[in-house]
Amino acid sequence: SAALEHIASTDPLTRLYNRRAFRYWCDKEVKRSQSRGRLFSVLMIDLDHFKKINDRFGHLAGDGALCAAVEKMQDSIRGIDILGRWGGEEFILLLPGASPDSALVIADRLRLNVAKIMVGATGELHRLEEILGDPNDMMRVTVSLGVTTYRGKGDTVESMLKRADEGLYEAKATGRNRIVAMT
Ligand code: C2E
Ligand code: C2E
Repeated sequence: SAALEHIASTDPLTRLYNRRAFRYWCDKEVKRSQSRGRLFSVLMIDLDHFKKINDRFGHLAGDGALCAAVEKMQDSIRGIDILGRWGGEEFILLLPGASPDSALVIADRLRLNVAKIMVGATGELHRLEEILGDPNDMMRVTVSLGVTTYRGKGDTVESMLKRADEGLYEAKATGRNRIVAMT
């Protein structure tokens, strides 16, 4: 049924597409790119210090941070853009039509918007604009991002994912809350 098909392709906590569904949309985008010569980009996104959030504030706060980050990201992208959950605290974003420059613009919008989220001991989330508790008892939620763009014939979804992951790894290794493009 359509309902079962939906369950099989989405992650229960965030309701985002899972890996399998995300790959399906990427494969479609590769075909579209080849037939119409349209660019597209992929972002690999990882929540920074997620283990620390869980250890310090508990798993409810961890889940809250994940959901708040997803909401912020969804609010920062277009309806045609596809956000997926790669697993754990890792997300993936498909940007149809986005050039390397556009992908960087979008990545920075996501980075800045997610960094408005604060997570605290109660498990409640406070937008930066309306902090209610003691700011010293809270952590800012940030993300690191790896960015890459389709290179045309010969490039594959697998190699794009590998490049995006390498960018993400470098963003983590060089201080987090930052973007590394692998063009
Ligand atoms: P910009 O924000 O500097 O974006 C430059 C180009 O990046 C856009 O050109 C588009 O090709 C791509 N792009 C930017 N954000 C997204 C995104 O979230 N998803 C995808 N798939 N692509 C994106 P475009 O479409 O010609 O837009 C030109 C300018 O118009 C944008 O410059 C922005 O200033 C404004 N704009 C267009 N749509 C919106 C919108 O929904 N909200 C806001 N606030 N501004 C918009
Ligand atoms: P949408 O296209 O689904 O975009 C949702 C949100 O993603 C936007 O909310 C904005 O926060 C972000 N976004 C998308 N594209 C861009 C972009 O190119 N640049 C920037 N800076 N941000 C972008 P926002 O701005 O509140 O817009 C809500 C909705 O209003 C958009 O939903 C779209 O349907 C429409 N819209 C706003 N500005 C434009 C525009 O310049 N051109 C067109 N065609 N539609 C627009």
